[in-house]
Amino acid sequence: MFHTTAKLLASSALIACAITSQSLAQDGSLQVIHAGHVLTIPGQPFQAEQSIYVRDGVIERVEAGYASPEGAEIIDLTDQWVMPGFIDSHVHMTSELNPNGRLMTVTDSSADRAIDGARFARATLMAGFTTVQDVGGNLDAVTALRDGINAGDIPGPRMRVSGPAVTPTGGHGDINGYSSEVMDLLTSRAACNGAADCRRAVRELVRGGADVIKITATGGVLSNTAAGVEQQFFDDELASIVEAAHMMGRKVTAHAHGVTGINSFLEAGGNSVEHGTYLDRDSIRLFKRNNAYLIPTVLAGVTVAEMAETAAWMTPFQRAKSRLVGPMMIEMARRAHEGGVAIAFGTDSGVSRHGLNAREFELLVEAGLTPMEAIVTATLNAADHLELSAHLGTLEAGKSADIIAVDGDPLADIRELQDMDFVMARGTVYRND
Ligand SMILES: [Zn+2]
Repeated sequence: MFHTTAKLLASSALIACAITSQSLAQDGSLQVIHAGHVLTIPGQPFQAEQSIYVRDGVIERVEAGYASPEGAEIIDLTDQWVMPGFIDSHVHMTSELNPNGRLMTVTDSSADRAIDGARFARATLMAGFTTVQDVGGNLDAVTALRDGINAGDIPGPRMRVSGPAVTPTGGHGDINGYSSEVMDLLTSRAACNGAADCRRAVRELVRGGADVIKITATGGVLSNTAAGVEQQFFDDELASIVEAAHMMGRKVTAHAHGVTGINSFLEAGGNSVEHGTYLDRDSIRLFKRNNAYLIPTVLAGVTVAEMAETAAWMTPFQRAKSRLVGPMMIEMARRAHEGGVAIAFGTDSGVSRHGLNAREFELLVEAGLTPMEAIVTATLNAADHLELSAHLGTLEAGKSADIIAVDGDPLADIRELQDMDFVMARGTVYRND
């Protein structure tokens, strides 16, 4: 039941259909989905034999039995397990790790990035992810992609974007490991030093269209520098970033591995933590105090640990940090879950290949979540984390018609979610195998 070449070819043909049916989704006509099993509210059981009414991209109602009102387009998912579209809270939509990545940093324009992003957005959508948060990308590229998808011009998931991460100079989000002349040219506008300068960085990102502020609170695995994975911002810088972002209505999420960076960021009032590799008991207390979500990105850890053994292009700094941090992430997710930390689903796709996002479900179950708990992280929880609960996360009247389905019971085998069979986003059918 896993992807075959024929199936992937069939899905590219469907994309062509989807573009022409884009207008149909907004013309007032009624679509009725006959759902054999449907998860209207994740966390509650699947319900059998329901009809989902969809008009103009929005769910009108869900009712028991198979209704066929006059003039409605009937979509037959009677043999399928139907769920709210999945949400990935951590992707890098305009890039994908590859042997030429370090060269592309100096050869690719923002426009090149956006075009690559259109391809990756389509792969993500076809995997059942109808909403994503892009945390760390070229601001011109990700805002253009976001707006093109919203306008219906490009098939892809609804996007929230941060643009480049706010980072200290030389930190994980800055340019690293090139000649000094190149680094002087390409240093990030979001690099900042001192509280006042960090407010400037936040405000420029808001001006440029960022929906959320991402910071690099610690070193990272794939930056080409031996700066470790602990705290990189001073406490007054963290406080100024959080305050400036909140003042302009933006949440702050932090890339953080080392516990000093996790805890200082949460102490400063941060809203969520990406990765969280070395989180401890104090972190768990601070997560709860702040009502902060953890986005574990276990898939990124597994991916870089695999690459450290197989990818010839990794630099020595990258390889050493990948071997160290990668394998720890599944145990981190277990510790957080057992400690009662709220988890929102995120994969760091772009580190792993786009479209393989659903592998994270399997890893979350390995970390001790039940299959239903794993599904909740990618629906209810991620919708709340992305401030989109009014539109996403459940299949109820008034919610966006972001509806997906697989042909086996995901509660019996969570890997079923890696073989998506049906994708509707905002009322448009993009995939129906
Ligand atoms: Zn990332």
